[in-house]
Amino acid sequence: MKAAKNNNTKTNGKVMQLEEQSWKQIDAWDRQNTIFFIPLSPMEEHGPHLPVGTDFITARDAAREAIRVLTKTRPDLTCVLFPAIPLGYSKLATDFPGTISTHTNAISLIVSDICSSLARFGFKYAVICTFHMDLGHLKGIYRGMKRAMKHHEIKIVEPWGPYFYHKEVEKREPQVGFDTKKEVHACFRETSLMNYQYPYLVDPSYKNLQSIYRDLYSPRVLGKTFKDIGITEGYVGSPARADSDYGRWYFQQIVDTYTQAAVDLVEGKKTRDLPQKTQVLMRSLFWYK
Ligand SMILES: [Zn+2]
Repeated sequence: MKAAKNNNTKTNGKVMQLEEQSWKQIDAWDRQNTIFFIPLSPMEEHGPHLPVGTDFITARDAAREAIRVLTKTRPDLTCVLFPAIPLGYSKLATDFPGTISTHTNAISLIVSDICSSLARFGFKYAVICTFHMDLGHLKGIYRGMKRAMKHHEIKIVEPWGPYFYHKEVEKREPQVGFDTKKEVHACFRETSLMNYQYPYLVDPSYKNLQSIYRDLYSPRVLGKTFKDIGITEGYVGSPARADSDYGRWYFQQIVDTYTQAAVDLVEGKKTRDLPQKTQVLMRSLFWYK
């Protein structure tokens, strides 16, 4: 690949963690300028070569990094890291050990209860940081956000779903010399990401994995599991092509997306929604019960 242009040098600095504060310290935060970053992604198999926490670790670390960036660039804001929640709905990967799937309704209640609790004390802004894009998971998140925003004066955004489903990555990514449209799960992108962030957590056998492709968005696949559609190793794409330079670029995209959404939220700008057709599809998922 061409050298990815990047200006990310991981920033150092203390990140405010909710669990380390007393109620007195929390009560001193300016309600108009405090933003909670809430990482939320499940344990889910990611092929024979990546850890089950791939989405969880990515969401948590990108949220932490976004806070570091904002602490420098927006000292007027109080950015708080909520303890990362290792939960999510996962249908496709359910038949592999290590995948822990939580009911869509449970996700919805978790999101709405957490945000409502914050709102009850006057806090106004929350960013749900997920890296897991299963529509049943997003359905839970969006329902929970809607419920909390209906009953309280809090504004909540989930930025990665709109980035992902508007296919921003394909529009922006550096040239890699092959078709990345078929990279879907534990693939070139996610293996690159982990190679960049945690190379010691990536099993070197990834270099020998054959490329496997499936259209996971075909109507015939919806509601099925990986094993139902003949995916026996738990990945879809070409992990062997992983490149940590690409991983650095991709990680920075996630950080930038979380950061921008937080700024837009406090400044009252309109934040991006999921594409219309994704919303329709998400609502129609009657089997996610
Ligand atoms: Zn993933």
